[in-house]
Amino acid sequence: MDFKRSVELFLRAQEVIPGGVNSPVRAFASVGGRPIFIRQGKGSRIYDEDGNSYIDYVCSWGPLILGHAHPDVVDSVKSAVENGTTFGAATALEVELAEMIVDAVPSIEMVRLVNSGTEALMSAIRLARGFTGRDKVVKFEGCYHGHSDSLLAKAGSGITTFGLPDSAGVPASLTSDTFVLKYNDLEAVEKLASSAGDEIACIVIEPVAGNMGVVQPKEGYLQGMRDICNRYGILLIFDEVITGFRLAYGGAQELYGVNPDLTTLGKIIGGGLPVGAYGGRRDIMEFVAPVGPVYQAGTLSGNPLAVSAGIATLKLLQDKNVYNTLCEQANLLHQGLALAATNSGINVQINSVGSMMTVFFTDEPVTDYASAKKADTKRYAKFFHGMLQRGIYLAPSQFEAAFVSLAHSRQEIEDTIKAAQEVFMDMSARDN
Ligand code: PMP
Repeated sequence: MDFKRSVELFLRAQEVIPGGVNSPVRAFASVGGRPIFIRQGKGSRIYDEDGNSYIDYVCSWGPLILGHAHPDVVDSVKSAVENGTTFGAATALEVELAEMIVDAVPSIEMVRLVNSGTEALMSAIRLARGFTGRDKVVKFEGCYHGHSDSLLAKAGSGITTFGLPDSAGVPASLTSDTFVLKYNDLEAVEKLASSAGDEIACIVIEPVAGNMGVVQPKEGYLQGMRDICNRYGILLIFDEVITGFRLAYGGAQELYGVNPDLTTLGKIIGGGLPVGAYGGRRDIMEFVAPVGPVYQAGTLSGNPLAVSAGIATLKLLQDKNVYNTLCEQANLLHQGLALAATNSGINVQINSVGSMMTVFFTDEPVTDYASAKKADTKRYAKFFHGMLQRGIYLAPSQFEAAFVSLAHSRQEIEDTIKAAQEVFMDMSARDN
């Protein structure tokens, strides 16, 4: 494979864009090598600037559940753009998307559209604080909720659970109200709530984690969290930016039968255009300006292009069979990769829920951030590059999800398994 043009572009990009990219993971820093620059996407495939073609399992990190450039999405955006790209005023389209979200997601009675997942989380946290009159927030190690200051916290020492800034430029004062607990450990939540429950505004969680690689909630974990929140008057926020409309039409909350108070969405509801949303109980949402005292606004919020792409996408997802199809395809991939690894003597743990999946290069089950971190990132890097060379584009980091879309054909899944078999064999030969 020739990457000449991508290499040239990366050199140019690094002169004018920090690290040459507009979001860090794109730089391939954790797998080494140089990023490919994408020219085009169609269905399950992307094409880079050198003309190489790949089966794409990143799918723009989740939004493209229909694949790239789905004709319905393209048509909806085309017709929207001809009517003007933004008005900064109310439109019928926004009402339509909001109604679709309220109809779909079990716990959402009202919803506000924003422009990204980060903005959705930042706003939902502010709302939870405004509604409860409390300041503290609980999040979980390995969960990512966008890059707003108070959520960019990592766990403190084993003794304290207070959050420490996870980035330069975040004052410790802004993460000191954030508690960081271990994922899948209900006891830790109970313990914290029993000592500080009346100071905690909200618990925010990815109901299925996607940002430490895929980690599923243990049986009873989400319901247990719901019960604790009820007991202490804490709002439960499900960050469904990835899982919303991915695991089921009503998201993870439909799949697990647990209703949060607030939900954040993004990705799929914008059909591949910039969007985010937060919604939930009517009495809480009525705290948002202009009806309530919690301020939140946006020049491009409810943008007609993003909203049109979102409506077109959700319409196609209303056919309940799509989730069975996605699950079947993902299961095929999961089983095929597991068998290929076993046949090659490579130790992996594959976590998948519906159409999101991670192959961890580790011997032990991955149930939280600590066990995810035991994965061998150097081996993942070898796997990644081996697959890239065979025309399969995976996330350029061990701690991310692969996404199966409705555009992936059975043949492509089989080709992916075959490629993985070759790469695993190659890795195994080098081990010996
Ligand atoms: N929450 C979750 C669960 C996410 O996965 C992401 C981004 N991958 C975000 C929030 C932030 O969304 P955005 O990148 O659109 O700001």
